[in-house]
Amino acid sequence: EIKSITDLPGVGPATANKLIEAGYATIEAIAVATPQELSAAAGIPLTAAQRIIKAAREALDIRFKTALEVKKERMQTRKITTGSRNLDDLLGGGIETKTITEFFGEFGSGKTQICHQLAVNVQLPIEKGGLSTQDRVAKAVYIDTEGTFRWERLENMAKRWGLDPDEVMSNIFYIRAINSDHQMAIVDELFNIVPKENIKLVIVDSVTSHFRAEYPGRENLAARQQKLNRHLHQLAKLAEVYDLAVVITNQVMARPDVFYGDPTQAVGGHVLYHAPGVRVQLRKSRGNKRIARIVDAPHLPEGEAVFVITDYGIAD
Ligand code: ADP
Ligand code: MG
Repeated sequence: EIKSITDLPGVGPATANKLIEAGYATIEAIAVATPQELSAAAGIPLTAAQRIIKAAREALDIRFKTALEVKKERMQTRKITTGSRNLDDLLGGGIETKTITEFFGEFGSGKTQICHQLAVNVQLPIEKGGLSTQDRVAKAVYIDTEGTFRWERLENMAKRWGLDPDEVMSNIFYIRAINSDHQMAIVDELFNIVPKENIKLVIVDSVTSHFRAEYPGRENLAARQQKLNRHLHQLAKLAEVYDLAVVITNQVMARPDVFYGDPTQAVGGHVLYHAPGVRVQLRKSRGNKRIARIVDAPHLPEGEAVFVITDYGIAD
């Protein structure tokens, strides 16, 4: 049975060390690598790299499945409650694992509040809308690019469910990303951290701000989008390989017309053009009311949901 990377064919201690140093410390990380990457990282021939990757994929059961098997797997996927019944219903039950969910909307529309709430809610037991099992608590990673993370909010949100706030906070791994390269490096590093910690939710709040600041204007748009796509691809891999939920936020102006010339803004603002996932647009309404709408998700019904942001979190 293949349990660690040294169980893979042709991976002795020396090669294992090189792989670990290059960030390929787990079967999962190797299974999603390309032979070229792995060959360069470990200094081994391409054919050896191919053999190692093949064995890693077989060990993880990455193969053709029948549609019926897919159905059975999907029926078992659990969802994370947002704290609002209305919003959960709109999302077909909540936030799904193996998927990237993007919340986009103007400043103050509730993106960051939803992220905080989900980092708490993922820790609830399955029957209460979280992903914790009897013997393993589900944990969250919070990648903050704007410095808007507030532990005080987590306290209130944890108390709402009768959870111990300190315990809840000790299960949320926080990191401030200082620029887009750092942000991408953090996600690469997660391929090594996630399997050790039972992380079931990865949040990037916001996914776009560094990219926008570092690649301003029309002339940098292609480079920016290319790099962002690579980042999203890594996040999608992480979600798929480790059966976890990825939630990203993306701030867009209320008036897209002021962003003429920027296609990431002009078509409603979401960044998940090609990546699979669920896009949720948020709008401000009266007072603490917010309106959510799903954008081009063929498997979800059209419509809007109204939720509120309260002192104890996201609610109806
Ligand atoms: P963004 O979409 O910009 O990330 P936020 O998620 O930060 O927006 O939402 C900010 C809004 O959340 C504020 O305008 C406020 O209405 C609400 N909010 C923040 N903290 C609290 C709180 N402790 N009690 C009630 N509402 C709050
Ligand atoms: Mg925010």
